[in-house]
Amino acid sequence: MPASSAWPARLALAFLLLVLSGASVLLWRQIEGVQQQRLDERLGYQARTLARQLESTLYLEVDGLERIARLWNRLGRLPRDSWEEEAQRTLAGFPAYQSIQWLGEDLRMRWLLPLAGNEAALSFRLTPDHPNYALAMEARATGEQRFSNSFQLVQGGRGFVLYTPLYREQDGVRVFDGFLQGVFRVEPLMQELLAQLDPGSFNVELLEDGQRLFRHGAVEQAPQRSLQLPLSLLNNQAFSLRLSPTQELLEQLHSPLPGVVLGASLAISLLLVAALALALENSRRAQALQAANRRYKIEETRRQETEQRLHESRERLQLVLDLTDSSHDGLFIFDTTNRELLHMNQATYASLGYRPEQFAQLLRNDPEKLLPGFHRWLEQARQAQRDNLSRIFQRELIRRDGSRQPAEINTQLVQLHGREFLIAVSRDNSERLQLEAQLQRLSQLDGLTGLYNRRYFDQQLPAELRRLRRSGAPLALLMLDIDHFKAYNDALGHLAGDDALRKVSSVLRESLQREGDAACRYGGEEFAIILANTGLDGGEHVAARIHEAIASLAIAHPASPLGRLSLSIGLTVLDPVSDEQPGELVSRSDQALYSAKHRGRNCTYLWQPPAA
Ligand code: GH3
Ligand code: MG
Ligand code: MG
Repeated sequence: MPASSAWPARLALAFLLLVLSGASVLLWRQIEGVQQQRLDERLGYQARTLARQLESTLYLEVDGLERIARLWNRLGRLPRDSWEEEAQRTLAGFPAYQSIQWLGEDLRMRWLLPLAGNEAALSFRLTPDHPNYALAMEARATGEQRFSNSFQLVQGGRGFVLYTPLYREQDGVRVFDGFLQGVFRVEPLMQELLAQLDPGSFNVELLEDGQRLFRHGAVEQAPQRSLQLPLSLLNNQAFSLRLSPTQELLEQLHSPLPGVVLGASLAISLLLVAALALALENSRRAQALQAANRRYKIEETRRQETEQRLHESRERLQLVLDLTDSSHDGLFIFDTTNRELLHMNQATYASLGYRPEQFAQLLRNDPEKLLPGFHRWLEQARQAQRDNLSRIFQRELIRRDGSRQPAEINTQLVQLHGREFLIAVSRDNSERLQLEAQLQRLSQLDGLTGLYNRRYFDQQLPAELRRLRRSGAPLALLMLDIDHFKAYNDALGHLAGDDALRKVSSVLRESLQREGDAACRYGGEEFAIILANTGLDGGEHVAARIHEAIASLAIAHPASPLGRLSLSIGLTVLDPVSDEQPGELVSRSDQALYSAKHRGRNCTYLWQPPAA
């Protein structure tokens, strides 16, 4: 997968992470909300519990006064020492009391404990203008205890009074006998009550008709969580408690769950996304790997095919090379630029008697020793190729034993990659040349007599004339004709005539002794003899010798006056400085021959220029 196509997946993963994170935060807020609700519930519960405990603690602690009142009401007015004993015990039981006192039925202070600190109250009398007067009267009327609101104590400071009405029997009638009063200062009472409870959880304020009377601990720490609860102190409903949870309590109640859940869900989201990303990356890598594998397989197949093709073409090449080895023609490819032999078949070197490396070395280092005129020949081959002429050359190759082998070499020059290659096919054509030479010879000979024929004569005479003129040598031409040959044939038959022709021819051939002399059958029973480098003497001498030889043959000729075969000869000698043409020469010889016939035959006549 290409890098660009990974982007949609990455964006999807980022989006998924965003969604999961959002869900985590939502979940966290949900749990946090529930937690807060539960916290508020717990706080409310604890606060209510505290308030109830405070109420019941006060109720229990002031039970001592009620006990004294019950004694009083049942036994009648207690003696002062008994009262003091009971009062002392009550004071000891609940140190929050400022004092315990008895107010007589005239509402004047009678007895008071402890005296210390309460001296100012000794002369106290509850008068109608006292803020608690109505409450006291209510207690008196109902016979029930009444707890006052706070008021300014005569001892100084604010406090409360618990009015417990006392009664005694008098003449069978129950009469009011004053109030047993528990006096409390606000601060000590609250401190004492709270000391018996668990004051560490809340900061406490005591409110009376909404006004703060007392404060315990700091209040500002979590004002949003403070709770205000109605507080019934004994039977007085004028109070309320404002409770603020302490930091300690808040910490105690605080649950790390939402944070943990948030952290865990964020971590899980992150892990999930990371795992997905990893899986995606793995799948991407796997795909890339698969693609690479596929490419590799294709490459592998292609490579195998190429190898196969290479193998096949190598085999074909080897076959071709083997076949070229079986050829009788030599084939070699020579890099003329680097003088390097690229290829040669067996016939190239074997027919010349070389070993391959000898041939290659010779061609490289000294080609002229292998093929005389090599460089000129190469240039000719280039020129022939440029001019589009035949590129078949007749050359001679030097065999290992030094002998020469005629060769027909077909050349082709190829320019490739800035180099010049010579492709040469050479053929040993010595046999063909011999054959050609033989044919050539045969074409020059006369079939019946074996002498040169007329055609040869026609070529040879002008050639000899030119040659002899260059060298300044003379030439003698003899024209010979058998005498009465028609009659010979007529008498003895044509076959005998042929036989006689052959015999005469042998005589003519044998009578020539020098190289360059040629005896030709000029036609029928006429012959011509070219004698090169021969003057008049030589010509006459040869003619005489022929007459002698024919005579000694003694071929019987019944129709000849001599009784034997004879011939007549016309002789012409050419002066080298003259410019006579061959035709003239022949004509002169003919004339001379005619003269010889005319003079009785069996003789030689030398051509004479006509008399002026
Ligand atoms: P002359 O002495 O004047 O030369 O008399 P002749 O009979 O020889 O006359 P001519 O030279 O004209 O005769 C030529 C004769 O030669 C004609 C022919 O019968 C004979 N002849 C020519 N060619 C051949 C040949 O190839 N074979 C044979 N058997 N006879 C030939
Ligand atoms: Mg004739
Ligand atoms: Mg004749």
